[in-house]
Amino acid sequence: MAIVRAIESGNGEGRRLRLVSPANQESIGELRVSTAAEVRETVARARRAQPAWQALGFDGRAAIMRRALEILLADQEKYVAAIGRETGRSRYETILMEIFPACDSLAYFGKHAKRLLKDEKPSLHLLKNKKLVVSYEPLGVIGIITPWNGPFILSLNPSVQALMAGNAVVLKASELTPFSGRLVRELFDAAGLPKDVFGLVEGDGEVGAALVEAGVNKIAFTGSVATGRKIAEACGRNLIPCTLELGGKDPMIVCSDADLDRAAKGCVFGAFLNAGQFCCSTERVYVVSSVADAFTDKVLGHVRALRQGSSGEYDIGPMISEKQLDVIEAHVADALARGAKVLVGGKRNPKLGPLFYEPTVLTDVTHAMRVMREETFGPILPIVRVRDEQDALEMANDSEYGLSSTLWTRDEAKAVSLAKRIESGSVCVNDSSITYGVLEAPFGGMKASGLGQVHGKDGLKNYCFAKSIVIDRFQLKEERAWYPYSGDKVEMLQKVMHWVWGTRLGRLLA
Ligand code: NAD
Repeated sequence: MAIVRAIESGNGEGRRLRLVSPANQESIGELRVSTAAEVRETVARARRAQPAWQALGFDGRAAIMRRALEILLADQEKYVAAIGRETGRSRYETILMEIFPACDSLAYFGKHAKRLLKDEKPSLHLLKNKKLVVSYEPLGVIGIITPWNGPFILSLNPSVQALMAGNAVVLKASELTPFSGRLVRELFDAAGLPKDVFGLVEGDGEVGAALVEAGVNKIAFTGSVATGRKIAEACGRNLIPCTLELGGKDPMIVCSDADLDRAAKGCVFGAFLNAGQFCCSTERVYVVSSVADAFTDKVLGHVRALRQGSSGEYDIGPMISEKQLDVIEAHVADALARGAKVLVGGKRNPKLGPLFYEPTVLTDVTHAMRVMREETFGPILPIVRVRDEQDALEMANDSEYGLSSTLWTRDEAKAVSLAKRIESGSVCVNDSSITYGVLEAPFGGMKASGLGQVHGKDGLKNYCFAKSIVIDRFQLKEERAWYPYSGDKVEMLQKVMHWVWGTRLGRLLA
């Protein structure tokens, strides 16, 4: 059963898709797939609207973000309901993962972009007669392509950063969750964002591919490694930069001195948040042998207490699609065939609907199994008993991915030392799933998990071109470096070189 179904149109109106709720299989709406010409036209309109938006300045742009924040706070139930309808997520999780961070993004980047992107004037080590101003200019139009697993926040948050940097934006949200993309547009419209500064195109991968080719100045992509590679190739061909926020296989390391109660609870939250459909999900646990039994018992207790459902109060919702469920079943079947054991779960939960899979804990797993090597993106928690922390570190790093990781110990110095050696873009110590919520922290993946980073000062700068303006301070009548060349000038240049790099005083000052 697919969540998106093509509708035969035959009337020349182009392709249309029907959306079906993952929770109860009811039809929740349709979308018409944008044509390549419409995508190009949306980008062209955004380009025309961008200069006036840039000219508004940081304060003018921040006022729109503040207004959007007020509207989101006041109308949040409308947003929660619309996001919940297309994801099947619980109300609490929708507020926690979508609305709360969206408010924070609007507030933080609205307030701080001006400071973070202000002109820089670094002092020069050598050419003391010059002055350098580095100015962070908007790139122009940013194409943003997003996935279904955080459909509102992952569309809103990059848009806020790109807009605050003075760019226009064209968004292509996932075809599985297009209503969240529309919510972002509605919010900006209601906040008074000038016309065409934010454009929305709708549809599947074909539309995303058309956006990359439509004359944008950068692509900010969040999604799978396979699509990320295609986008990187297309951006390379078009000579435009891209930021790629891709998949992960996040490890968790539990040291012998960890607070086991906290580690077990954090592990269950980290593994089953959004039914495991979270880029920074804990997908592999390495626990030091001396505490492995106690830790696993505590984890099992918490997993057995999880409530699955789609209405009222519940903890774990459905998978987004049949395709996602197939991956999960294939990983579990492969693991069992190679000797893994199911401690809890391990099967679908058809009583609740066709897209539910029980929260599952596996043991006796090895790195020969798909469940330890490929992104599962579901409610599957494999636990491995390791000799010591060094063993855990080596196994954690034995992966093509490197998005995020978690580390559990009471010894902060040890935590920092281990964190520096884990091959992942970020590390949570004694916590799970929080890095994306720390807006000062650069966020992005190592290895196959991505290219570039978002958030923080550097993430915001990634939506800009750092323009160097070098200013002559003294206005000398004659520059020694200019024409005409002469033997005297050669001698003088060699003397300068000797003094600057060949003497102790010169090396000290330069
Ligand atoms: P996906 O790659 O299938 O799709 C993502 C988006 O790309 C969708 O909008 C899709 O329509 C579009 N797309 C597909 N083919 C395209 C093409 N050829 N050119 C341009 N656009 C194209 O990913 P998904 O299944 O929607 O999302 C799940 C993946 O996203 C997981 O791997 C998850 O780990 C990852 N993810 C990463 C982060 C992060 O911050 N690193 C956050 C959330 C999700």
